[in-house]
Amino acid sequence: KAKKLESDAVLACMENVQRKVLVLSGKGGVGKSTVTCQLAYELASRGLSIGVLDVDICGPSAPTMFGVTDRQIHHSRSGWSPVYVKEGLSVVSTAFMLEGGDEAVIWRGPRKNGLIKQFLTQVDWGHLDYLLVDTPPGTSDEHISTVQYLRADGAGVDGAIVVTTPEEVSMADVRKELSFCKKVKCDVVGVVENMAQFKSGVEKVGFRSKGGEDVSEKVKEILEKLPLDPNLLACCENGEGFTEKYGEGGESEEAVSALKAI
Ligand code: ADP
Repeated sequence: KAKKLESDAVLACMENVQRKVLVLSGKGGVGKSTVTCQLAYELASRGLSIGVLDVDICGPSAPTMFGVTDRQIHHSRSGWSPVYVKEGLSVVSTAFMLEGGDEAVIWRGPRKNGLIKQFLTQVDWGHLDYLLVDTPPGTSDEHISTVQYLRADGAGVDGAIVVTTPEEVSMADVRKELSFCKKVKCDVVGVVENMAQFKSGVEKVGFRSKGGEDVSEKVKEILEKLPLDPNLLACCENGEGFTEKYGEGGESEEAVSALKAI
């Protein structure tokens, strides 16, 4: 009976959410949150309604990237209201639940799962075209519970985006992510090889070329290379939408078109 109540609650919470996409990475610091948040800005600028759920409990960075660190989520009769970023873009993050922004979080599994359950059952998103879920690095309890809860509506997760860097260490982890997706029957819609090349003036210096490309044929088809770009870094720090600010044909053309292609 408890399970039924739980899945009814997820169903009610996700009722007006058209598509749910997980953003995954094997390791931390590879740009998972960057991709999530900048993709959210880009999709919102196309007139879509986007929600970002930041369940990276130990290192939530969405509030900084959206420039809303001073905000909190509020309870209302219809549930928790997400923090409004701009027209068509709202966010819920673990960071809003902590007292000080710099507080270290050491939470054990059951508590993490409890919070994820609350996020997936009690947030009043309203109508969303996409819910992007920024997950912690790796494939742990949080991922499994997120996928399980989201199955309550029968549709489950619509797809996953896997973010990696060109280094091999991180690639080995990506294989783990891919096999996780296979196991939970979640379609991988994109693999982003982030910081694929280093931009220094006019010259591009390549990192080791292996990385993101060293995966199966199917994945090659959906591989997108996002270069390291100081303007992208600045936008993330200042809580600005990168593709809108720099546009196509400007100094950050490569990164802009890579993000748009994702
Ligand atoms: P993760 O979510 O995987 O831990 P982040 O998205 O927080 O990683 O990225 C780590 C840092 O690297 C951030 O400061 C981010 O702004 C920066 N960064 C990520 N990707 C790029 C990029 N392509 N160009 C420039 N800076 C980047």
